[in-house]
Amino acid sequence: MFQPATILRNTLSLCPQCGAETINAIAQGESPATLRDHAGIIEAQIVESGGQVFMRKRCKHHGEFEDLLASDSAFHNRMENLAVPPEREYRPDEPLHDHGVMSVQYGTGTFIIFDLTNRCNMKCDPCYMDANAGQDVHELSLQDIQSILDRAATVPNRREVNLLFSGGEPTLSPHFLDTLAYARQLGFKRLHVATNGIRFAQEPDFAAKAKRAGLHGVFLQIDGTTDETNAHRGIRNFMDVKIAALEHILGAGLQVTLQTAIVNGLNTDQVGRIVQFALDKGLFGVIFQPIMFAGRDRSVTPEVRHARRYTLSHLAHDLADQVVWDWQPLRDWFPASAFSLLGYLSDRLRGDHRSMVCTAAPSSAVGSPLVVNVKTGSAAPLARFFDVEGFLGDVRRIIDQDLDGFGLIAAVQTAIDARFDSAGAPANFTRADLYQLHEQSMARVNSSIEGWTDRAYESGEWRLLIVLGMWFQDLFNLDLRSIQASTTVVATEEGEISFCAYNSTGWREAVERIHLTATLSEWHRQHGRHTIFAGGKLVPVDILAGSRSQ
Ligand code: SF4
Repeated sequence: MFQPATILRNTLSLCPQCGAETINAIAQGESPATLRDHAGIIEAQIVESGGQVFMRKRCKHHGEFEDLLASDSAFHNRMENLAVPPEREYRPDEPLHDHGVMSVQYGTGTFIIFDLTNRCNMKCDPCYMDANAGQDVHELSLQDIQSILDRAATVPNRREVNLLFSGGEPTLSPHFLDTLAYARQLGFKRLHVATNGIRFAQEPDFAAKAKRAGLHGVFLQIDGTTDETNAHRGIRNFMDVKIAALEHILGAGLQVTLQTAIVNGLNTDQVGRIVQFALDKGLFGVIFQPIMFAGRDRSVTPEVRHARRYTLSHLAHDLADQVVWDWQPLRDWFPASAFSLLGYLSDRLRGDHRSMVCTAAPSSAVGSPLVVNVKTGSAAPLARFFDVEGFLGDVRRIIDQDLDGFGLIAAVQTAIDARFDSAGAPANFTRADLYQLHEQSMARVNSSIEGWTDRAYESGEWRLLIVLGMWFQDLFNLDLRSIQASTTVVATEEGEISFCAYNSTGWREAVERIHLTATLSEWHRQHGRHTIFAGGKLVPVDILAGSRSQ
């Protein structure tokens, strides 16, 4: 029986047991129609108890389930209160987008993910998508890729969006460079790859070739700043691979965001060091992604799952404890959707509805903007000396007024002035620097501004580094409300599917089975075997003298 608790709200979720049975049935050949009906949908409650937030649900067949959503209810409540709800802008209604109750219905997406292949040249533990463990290969042909991209380009009312090529390891796809070139030809400007970095490290000119083809940024996997803290990835010289990759990627002029999977008790002591590593290397950003129990991690015991579960409020508190500057969870963190107001402001300035906005649920994405001195690498949370919350409220009021041109710009400038506390700012940081950061923010959401990449990332003595926490749901904590307002979708032969629904509820298994490229043995017969770096193997890489991090 559940212990007494305060109910924050009700929602719908999935019974983990029914969900797992559905996934197994799909993997064994049952029609995806099962997924559209999703028999395992059950009522759930979000409750507060003992200063923490939990999801509770009861299945009439499989009993009670409880999982942690937030280690700090005050942080959770702050994110809920500051969130900007999604507009009903995006309602894909083609049959191809019918994923039953898991269909995306609201909001505005910021990421479209393309899994180019499920092959990988590593074998990590954990790996949410089970790379190299299955017996089937699912790899998109260039024709598949082009038709998926064509469809993504024609979705009505699409705002600017990031395309993120992923996998498996996407650079193993023989079509990687052609994919970039095709996406650019269709008019997509924000082209990114999520990679383990091995190919970038081993081929010195690969980053430059990718940039020429249209690549804009690289999401580089890293879970700690030493080989030991990345031991679960199975590569003995893990950090040398990252350093070599960074040398080539930064040398080619690409933006780098570190992408870190966090498992409670495994690498939670590394989060501060990872942010410091990003500052030292002059990188664009850091995204922390707490483990989702999908793929081969879905079957761990409840005890292991509870011990490894890590929430976004854990992250904010661990960062506060691990860095030398004052970084407060209840002052410096915001739901990502709060910054959608900057996208709407940009719309007013440019006179259309194309600026990038993120309307992710507050439990799915949070961020903390740091102001970084480009010369010294020192960092301070923006909210320490600028009332971000007050400013976003001002922006909301300004958007609602009928202003344009100079009147609009003057109103924004007045709001910036009013919210600036020069006494709390870093030494030598002026009001003019704040205007400059605002301009950077506008260029980040609007790629039609001339020279947007330079203005977004490289202007002035100060820059913004956004630390993001992205929480992906699994069968144990799935909240249908967030799934239906998903802002991160996977583009597949079966339409664009919420990332969490794709990886947690059986849609990946369905897509990979319906569009099977080859069994693993057939693939090996036709293409041979590629190297898999696992079990403590060394990856042959050359790095510049003095770059070694340890
Ligand atoms: S790099 Fe690791 S986590 Fe990523 S797909 Fe490959 S095996 Fe999975």
